[in-house]
Amino acid sequence: MGCSLAFYLSRAGRHVVVIDRGRIGQGATAACAGGIRAQFSTEINIRMGMEAKRLLARFVEETGQTADFRPVGYLFLLTSDDERSRFRAAIELQRACGLDDVVELEPAEARAMVPGLETDDLSGATFCPSDGLAGPNEVTYGFANAARRQGAVIVEDTPIEAFLTSGGAVTGVRTAAGEIESSQTVICAGPWSAPVGAMLGLQLPIVPSRRQVFVSEPFTGIRRGSPMTIDFHTSFYFHSEGEGVLFGMSDPSTPPGDDTRVDWSFLDRITAVAERRWPPLLEARVKTAWAGLYENTPDFQPLIGPLQPGLWIAGGFSGHGFMLAPVVGKWLAAWIADGATPVDLSAFAPDRFAAGSGLQPERNVV
Ligand SMILES: Cc1cc2nc3c(=O)[nH]c(=O)nc-3n(C[C@H](O)[C@H](O)[C@H](O)COP(=O)(O)OP(=O)(O)OC[C@H]3O[C@@H](n4cnc5c(N)ncnc54)[C@H](O)[C@@H]3O)c2cc1C
Repeated sequence: MGCSLAFYLSRAGRHVVVIDRGRIGQGATAACAGGIRAQFSTEINIRMGMEAKRLLARFVEETGQTADFRPVGYLFLLTSDDERSRFRAAIELQRACGLDDVVELEPAEARAMVPGLETDDLSGATFCPSDGLAGPNEVTYGFANAARRQGAVIVEDTPIEAFLTSGGAVTGVRTAAGEIESSQTVICAGPWSAPVGAMLGLQLPIVPSRRQVFVSEPFTGIRRGSPMTIDFHTSFYFHSEGEGVLFGMSDPSTPPGDDTRVDWSFLDRITAVAERRWPPLLEARVKTAWAGLYENTPDFQPLIGPLQPGLWIAGGFSGHGFMLAPVVGKWLAAWIADGATPVDLSAFAPDRFAAGSGLQPERNVV
């Protein structure tokens, strides 16, 4: 998020400094499954997903580097009638937004797309072939390198320790290496946004929570270029990754927190779901696993916009921040540099929970 914003702000002629306490791209982004989609339930997210796909498709022209964007499609498997009718309503909205290639499928059509899928209990499925996958590392460094060429400075291994303030406005940050003054400061601290905001006494409703990802050794049980397949009811998902398969699932029993240790016992719970939904996975040998942090808000929508004079936030992306980063960087840069966003972002107003109305929760959250 920070590198995307730095790219678009520096392109607009602004002098930008990105400050990271570690290495850029090593936070939530490093753990990300790389999914890119426009199959959301809210109009703003559908439009952002569509714009993200357009930007990623011409990422080389924009930044000079590949985003490794592979439009392999997203296949959502739906179990109950309620899920099917909700996704049908979402498809109507997606089509009204111009997402022409999204379709509703019968279970047998989903099975034909992903060999080995058990579909007897499914009520339906949806598929959008232009959704897909991109490389988190490629996108982060593509933006960062292009931003540097445009004059942005990226400072790593430098934690922000406090904000500088004057007359009620934020005027910069204090780091372990010294102070940096800035007319505008943006918190892009992913799952750590709340502790960063707390440095100013802010209570940002962004809660970190562990998610685990497993990757197999070379595995012939999945076709290369197979779609990102999501069993929406359980959140079990998988896609081909290199010569193997990448898979994961949410764990509702995980308490909030920033623990990123891998709990190998969780593999048994995923295997139990896979046995019912996609038994071929049981033949795969797991090569590696990692854990990263989701950054959830109460309505699973991000906080984007001004917090107080001189201070902004782009955080709380609730598990879909990688795909939204190109768009958020572009639109937020326009807001900061020109005073206006191309698209109304009020659904993401950072103070919306205090205001208590106008919430537009995202329901297609994995
Ligand atoms: C397992 C998993 C799978 C996911 N899959 C997907 C997916 O398929 N598609 C998708 O779109 N999204 C996915 N996500 C979500 C996505 O990874 C995040 O929404 C996104 O990466 C957030 O980017 P960010 O730049 O806001 O945060 P981050 O990448 O976490 O960057 C925040 C940066 O802030 C720095 N920082 C923190 N505190 C300080 C401080 N005090 N001083 C200086 N720097 C600081 C950190 O070092 C870090 O580099 C997934 C997440 C996980 C965990």
